[in-house]
Amino acid sequence: MNMIDTHIHADTRSSEDFEKMFVGGIDTAISCCYYPYKIANESVLINHMMRILNFEKKRCEKYGLNLKIALGIHPTNSLKSNKKIFKTLKQLIDEKKITAIGEIGLEEVTNDEIAIFKKQLDLAEETKTKVIIHTPRNNKLNVLKKIKSIVLESINPKLVVIDHINQRVIEEVIDENFMIGLTVQPQKMDVEEAIAILTSYGFDNFLLNSDISNKPSDPLSVPKTMRAMQKLDFKKKSINKIAFANAEKFFNI
Ligand SMILES: [Zn+2]
Repeated sequence: MNMIDTHIHADTRSSEDFEKMFVGGIDTAISCCYYPYKIANESVLINHMMRILNFEKKRCEKYGLNLKIALGIHPTNSLKSNKKIFKTLKQLIDEKKITAIGEIGLEEVTNDEIAIFKKQLDLAEETKTKVIIHTPRNNKLNVLKKIKSIVLESINPKLVVIDHINQRVIEEVIDENFMIGLTVQPQKMDVEEAIAILTSYGFDNFLLNSDISNKPSDPLSVPKTMRAMQKLDFKKKSINKIAFANAEKFFNI
């Protein structure tokens, strides 16, 4: 079985994790941009982006894992002066070096966050680039509502995946044209909840990921979810959609 883990943070993880993921059946992962400490100036974030693009990609490839890259300004990394970052992003999109803009979104819903979020959605719409949108752990439903209203007035929803969706908030996004990201990660969602969502809402609009990061994470959460579905006798076609086919089609990878 092919598998794609659609949202990881390779820069926070060990080589042993990449080896485990590849042996566990994951062929491709998408690494998203997030800097877990305050950013003194634009160069810090640009350097972080270049590290993911150049260094982490090679590190993963050593272990067989094909790393695709999503770059952007995470809401907690919102910087007032961001001209150079946007110039870099535009250039990387034009050079086809990145698969998506991400992860972007809202966290505390400050005016700076909203302005930078909108600016990135405009860039995505203008360049027809896919977008990975983060939804926060705290106050999830209210922030999701705000994200949804901004997204629907800024960009074709078919370019967008709304990530870290769970059973408590899924009704807010299920009837739109978004892809929906399910993150199986300790403290976020377990395998059973992910399978319950798929059982209720079908298989066409979902992507699966581990979001392995500096928070408690399981690099094997995608294969564990797929094997659990196999054991429960889900149709092979449904499993393949969630394991890789939806991601392959959506991200064109
Ligand atoms: Zn993430």
